Amino acid sequence: MMARILPVCMICRKVPRRGIAEGISICGSFICSECEQQMLESRFHNLDALKELSQKLI
Ligand SMILES: [Zn+2]
Repeated sequence: MMARILPVCMICRKVPRRGIAEGISICGSFICSECEQQMLESRFHNLDALKELSQKLI
């Protein structure tokens, strides 16, 4: 069995069609390109909130 499982976006809980190539990893958490785009559009302070969230998850 493969060690790698399909990445699930920590925000929308979806699995991108192209897997990990269609998103980014932050602090060990995966975010799909769709949600990444939304975060970039809503400026970077949301990224801090995201880091806090991912730290809680870890
Ligand atoms: Zn997403």
